[in-house]
Amino acid sequence: MTPDTLVFASANPNKLREMREIIGDRYRILGLADIGCHIDIPETGATCRENALIKARFVKEHYGLDCFADDSGLEIAALGGQPGVRTARFAGPECSDDDNMALTLRLMKDVTDRSARFITVIALIRGEEEMTFEGEMRGTIATERRGTGGFGYDQIFLPEGYDLTYAQISEEEKNAISHRHRAVAQLLAYL
Ligand code: IMP
Repeated sequence: MTPDTLVFASANPNKLREMREIIGDRYRILGLADIGCHIDIPETGATCRENALIKARFVKEHYGLDCFADDSGLEIAALGGQPGVRTARFAGPECSDDDNMALTLRLMKDVTDRSARFITVIALIRGEEEMTFEGEMRGTIATERRGTGGFGYDQIFLPEGYDLTYAQISEEEKNAISHRHRAVAQLLAYL
């Protein structure tokens, strides 16, 4: 039986490879480049859920294909939920992961409530149906960078139940517990 095709609205080859591995051969997963989409879909939503829906709806409207899209963000309680949708560009339009972590640590200097959470929202559009799935990892913001691996805010985020940052645990362990994998697990259960 030929597997159904689903577009994953991402241009990131690492994310695409990871998603293909997780989903296996039940679906043929195409990336944006595979469908000839080379534009950066504008993420103008006020929440990760809105941004995930914007990306999935864009593909459905312009290409008529079933699709899913993801969007992640870090929400820090003491900063009123920031950086939220601005997580990737918190320190400015061209900023690096280092800039984002430095800004976060500066804003959190002397702050005692360090609670935060990472979320990933996946929006799925299949036929006429629209669904969203949310994965969450609660945790705290470290007082300094710890660990060398990882990406994004890994070096300053301590997942709940660990005295280690995302950057100090192995990639396998992080993947088994992370916000992203929790969202993907829900998508898979639904598919
Ligand atoms: P995206 O929506 O998956 O591109 O994630 C937005 C931003 O959130 C990324 O640019 C990273 O800065 C941050 N981020 C998402 N997931 C993680 C993670 O697992 N660890 C650290 N930072 C992350």
